[in-house]
Amino acid sequence: MSSPTLYAVVPAAGVGARMGADIPKQYLSLNGQTILQHTLSGLANYSALKQIVVPIAAHDAWFAQQAIAQHEKIQTCEGGAERFESVLNGLNHLLDSGVDEHAWVMVHDVARPCLRHADIDKLISQGSEQGAILAMEVRDTMKRTDSSGAIINTVDRNQLWHALTSQLAPLGVLQRAISQCVAQGVNITDEASALEFIGLHPNVVAGHPSNIKVTRPEDLELAEFFLAHQPNPKR
Ligand code: C5P
Repeated sequence: MSSPTLYAVVPAAGVGARMGADIPKQYLSLNGQTILQHTLSGLANYSALKQIVVPIAAHDAWFAQQAIAQHEKIQTCEGGAERFESVLNGLNHLLDSGVDEHAWVMVHDVARPCLRHADIDKLISQGSEQGAILAMEVRDTMKRTDSSGAIINTVDRNQLWHALTSQLAPLGVLQRAISQCVAQGVNITDEASALEFIGLHPNVVAGHPSNIKVTRPEDLELAEFFLAHQPNPKR
C-alpha cells in the first residue's frame, strides 16, 4: 500500500471487567497518564493518520476530562454493547462524514497503549486490499483441554498466531464485512474475522511483543515498563 490516506477507529466503550477496577480500565493510570491518553496521543502523533474516531460508552463520564479529547484529529461516536458494534459505529461515523470508502482504516484497541510507530509503518507497508493485522507468532507449546482442565491434545503451533491490533483494511470493505456478520448473527472478536467471513485472506504482520492488551491488574506494571522504553516521538 502506497502513500495512504489513513483513518483510525479506536474502540473505547468497554468496561474491562477482568481488571476488577471501579472505573473502566482505559481510565486507569500508567506512569501518570491514563491508558486512553497514552494510546490516543501515540496515534495522534503518527503523521499519516488524518482522523481518529473513538467510540465511547453512552454515559462515559471520563473521556471529556482527558487532554487528548481536545486534539484536532480526535472525534467521538457512541459505542455499542459489543466491541464489533462499537467498531461498526466508528466506521459508519467516518462514512457518514464523507470519508471515501476506498480510504484505509486501522482499528486499534484503546487497551493497547504500547503500540510502536514502527509497527504501524510495517502494517502499512505490508497491507493488502484484503487487509492486514499485527500479530505475534505463537512461541509456546499449545494444549487443548476439556472443561475440567485436563489436556486432550497438543495443538500444532506451526503457523499459529496471536491476533493483535492494529488491524488495517479499506474502509468500505471492512464496513460491509462487519455489517454482513451482524446480519447473519456471526460473533466476531476482531476485524480480520469479519474479512475472513466474506472470503478474504488478510495478511499477518509480525508486530513487536510490547503491544500487549492491558487486561488484568498484573499487566499494568508491564505496560508501564514498555511505555518507559517506548521509542515513539515524545508525547
Ligand atoms: O475487553 P477487551 O479489552 O477485550 O476489549 C477490547 C477493546 O474493545 C477495548 O478497547 C474496549 O474498550 C473495546 N470495547 C468497545 N465496546 C464494547 C466492548 C469493548 O469499544 N462494547
